[in-house]
Amino acid sequence: MSDCLFCKMVSGEIPPDKVYEDDEVLAFRDINPQAPLHVLVIPKEHIATLNDLDNAHRPLVGRMVQAAAKIAAQEGVDASGYRTVLNCNADAGQSVFHIHLHLLAGRQMHWPPG
Ligand code: AMP
Ligand code: ZN
Repeated sequence: MSDCLFCKMVSGEIPPDKVYEDDEVLAFRDINPQAPLHVLVIPKEHIATLNDLDNAHRPLVGRMVQAAAKIAAQEGVDASGYRTVLNCNADAGQSVFHIHLHLLAGRQMHWPPG
């Protein structure tokens, strides 16, 4: 999608600070990190929100979650722990409408989240 920020990361029009890539998934550091490690894992396919997922996307979402676990290991936070977050629409604070999984680590997380 031509006017989507994260599609531009996939195409390379805007170069991401990349930490992981495979044929279906890209991961890069968040520009405004909320923890010492803050990475966004995105599908290369443009999907606006979680509400737009269908059955055919099930393996892709699995890939995103598995990529987060791989990155956590790569970054050395798999044992200490990490949080994954998927925001959907306004009440959750979604600001970029191309789905992305937040991977946050390197500090104690709190519950409930804000
Ligand atoms: P959300 O609020 O869940 O939609 O998350 C969007 C995330 O994208 C926020 O954490 C932003 O800091 C992040 N973000 C926005 N622009 C960029 C960018 N150019 N590079 C990396 N991360 C970005
Ligand atoms: Zn997109």
